[in-house]
Amino acid sequence: MRENLKIGILGGGQLGAMLIRHAIDFGLDISVMDKNDAAPSSRYASSFYCADPLSFDDVIEFGKGLDIITIEMEAVNTAALRQLEKSGVKVFPTPDNIELIQDKFTQKQFLISQGIPVAPGEAVDGKADLHNFENRLPLCLKKRRNGYDGYGVMVLRSAADIQTAFDEPSLLEELVDIKQEIAVIVARNEQGVVKSYAPAAMVFSEEKFILDYQIAPAQLDGELAGQATALAEKIAVALGLVGIVAVEMFVTKDDRILVNELAPRPHNSGHHTIEASVTSQYEQLLRAILGLPLGDPTLRTPSFMLNILDNASFSNNKEEKIKELLDLPGVHLHWYNKKGGQRPGRKIGHITITDSTIDKIVSKAETVRKIIN
Ligand code: ADP
Repeated sequence: MRENLKIGILGGGQLGAMLIRHAIDFGLDISVMDKNDAAPSSRYASSFYCADPLSFDDVIEFGKGLDIITIEMEAVNTAALRQLEKSGVKVFPTPDNIELIQDKFTQKQFLISQGIPVAPGEAVDGKADLHNFENRLPLCLKKRRNGYDGYGVMVLRSAADIQTAFDEPSLLEELVDIKQEIAVIVARNEQGVVKSYAPAAMVFSEEKFILDYQIAPAQLDGELAGQATALAEKIAVALGLVGIVAVEMFVTKDDRILVNELAPRPHNSGHHTIEASVTSQYEQLLRAILGLPLGDPTLRTPSFMLNILDNASFSNNKEEKIKELLDLPGVHLHWYNKKGGQRPGRKIGHITITDSTIDKIVSKAETVRKIIN
């Protein structure tokens, strides 16, 4: 690793903060850019640049003195990143890959072109087009761009639902009969070495599509786990990725695997890797983009991850509740210290539970859930 490398992260959320924590272990200085000057990473970055990662000029200004740029969210200006790349800054993932993934429709077309199984879907310009699909309902409608945590996803069950649908370029997908949702995080370095984390199971709250909890390893038939890993690795290779990509997948009720979406950055399905894996996803990303050998992704212990969502009961008794949580062995607290008042439902932290068996973890998770809700 070269001395005094200047590394920048576009985005200053909790994923960036966890990445910085691991960068400190490697003795690195990290600059962060986010439009919110109270973003969770702002307190930890060596230098913090408060500006919009979607602005061409701001990204150029931020990036021109850096050696390497990476991202912790996809909403960034790819034209500026392309220009920085031409002037010698290394950008991981590549601007082409970021652009491909920013749009759920081009992402799906890419996956299909690589022979990856996906739910069939079509692009629509807006609400008016949806009436042409009335006789094919139910369908899943997703904004092509800028959806996250389920905020750009809705199920259209009847013609009446079309009245409340998003009126913007979207992707209309067949509704999948989902048995289980899983994610595989894959790392790939410049030498083409690929290493994958064991599939993790993700359980979403039914009404809002927001992640409720996550278990690693996913309780999955061995053959399906192998298929999921092979698909995720094929995607990382097809992208020519240097870094990490989280591949979110559905296991259907008839045991097929369909790839849902890609995130070429640290991902909440890999929070547990900090405590449960030999090498965390954050350290793995740093190793990949710094040209270092990839680390061992093996799970040392099963784990369970729950988000702490902003709610009055937790916030009003925070000190007491944190004491109760930390009194439980194998409970690891990650508090994001988000500023800017209460907003019920937003992610303000997460808990990772580790123990020797899934059964022990699941029962401990019930206790944790009562404390945080
Ligand atoms: P986001 O980018 O907001 O995370 P996703 O595409 O991951 O959006 O969708 C969020 C959730 O919506 C998924 O995890 C899944 O629970 C549900 N979902 C997405 N697509 C489909 C589909 N085609 N059929 C059924 N459920 C779906």
